[in-house]
Amino acid sequence: MSQNWSQEKSAAVAAVREAAKVCRRVQQQLVSEQTLVKKDKSPVTVADFASQAVVCDRLARAFPKDAVVGEEGTGDLREPGQAALLKAVVENAGVGWGRAVNADEVLAAIDRGGAGTGKEERYWTLDPIDGTKGFLRKEQYAVALALIERGQVVLGVLGCPNLNPDGGPDGYAGGGLLVVAVRGQGAQVLSLEGDALVGKPAHVDAIADPRGARFCESVESGHSDQDLSAKIVAALGARAEPIRMDSQAKYAVVGQGQASIYLRLPTRADYRECIWDHAAGMIVVEEAGGRVTDVDGKPLAYAHGRKLDGNRGIIATSGLIHDAVVKAVGAALG
Ligand code: AMP
Ligand code: MG
Repeated sequence: MSQNWSQEKSAAVAAVREAAKVCRRVQQQLVSEQTLVKKDKSPVTVADFASQAVVCDRLARAFPKDAVVGEEGTGDLREPGQAALLKAVVENAGVGWGRAVNADEVLAAIDRGGAGTGKEERYWTLDPIDGTKGFLRKEQYAVALALIERGQVVLGVLGCPNLNPDGGPDGYAGGGLLVVAVRGQGAQVLSLEGDALVGKPAHVDAIADPRGARFCESVESGHSDQDLSAKIVAALGARAEPIRMDSQAKYAVVGQGQASIYLRLPTRADYRECIWDHAAGMIVVEEAGGRVTDVDGKPLAYAHGRKLDGNRGIIATSGLIHDAVVKAVGAALG
C-alpha cells in the first residue's frame, strides 16, 4: 500500500484496460444466447462476468487483502442450464488474462467481487459493465473501478470504450478512452490501450452562469426523471437539448468539460443508488475541478454498504454553478 496510491493506480488502470479489451471483443460478437435476465431484469452479458473476473483477479494478485464490492455474483452462472454461458465467460476471461484458464479460477475471481460489503475500512468497488443497455445497443458503457478508504473515494478509473477521445461537443461516439483520478492529484485522460500512465489533464468547463450550460442524463427514462430535468433546465435557462448517454461515461463527459451538468433525478422514492454506479465517476468529476452531491446537495456517503443509503439521486456539475443547480432541483422536487 503506497502513500500516494501509485501502485493502486497502475494496477487499477491495467485491470480496466484488460477488462475493456474483453468487453470490446464480446461486443463485436454479441449474440442473444449470451444474454440472460437477472432477477432485477437488467440484461447481463458474458462480458459482465468476464470483466469482473479479469479485474478481481488482478486486484487479488496486487492487493490480496483488499475487499472488492462488485456488481455480479456467480449464482446464475453456476446453474446447470448456464454451461454455454460459463464456457463463453471462461474463454473471454482467458483473453483478458492472456492465458488459458479454467472455470473454477474464473468463478473464484468473480466471487471475490461478490464478497465485499462496502463497510470495510478499505475496499474497491467495481461495475464490470456500467450501462449494460448501452453495451447491448453498441452505444456508451463503462468499466468503472474505484478505491474507497475510510468512506472516502481516493482513486477512480473509468474505461469508456466507445467515447470519443477528441471530445467535440457533438461527437461523443469514438474510439474509446480511459479517465483516471487520484485524490489530490487531478484527473487525466489516457488511451484505453498500451501501458501509459500519464495522459492529458481532464478539466471541467469554466461556466459560471447556468445559461449556456449543457446537461446530460440517462438514456433510460426509468433511471432518471427526464420530464423533471427538462423543467429544471428551462428554469435555469440552460441549453434545452439534453445529451443522453448510458453509464458513467456521463461523468467522463462532465470531467472533460463537454457538458456542465449531469442530473440523475429519482423516479422512485425507494430507489437507492449503487456505490459502483458512482464512486469512480464522482472522483473523476471532483478531481477535474467539479462538484458531485445528491439532489439535496448532500455529499455521497460510501461507508454504509453496497448502496448510497443516505442519499437520493445525483447532481454533478463543473462546480461554479453547483449551488444554483441544487437550488433549482430542490424547487422542482418541492
Ligand atoms: P445509466 O446508464 O446512467 O442509466 O445507469 C445505469 C445504472 O442504473 C445501472 O447500473 C443500474 O444499477 C442503475 N439503475 C437501475 N434502476 C435504476 C433506477 N430505478 N434509478 C436509477 N438508477 C437505476
Ligand atoms: Mg451500473
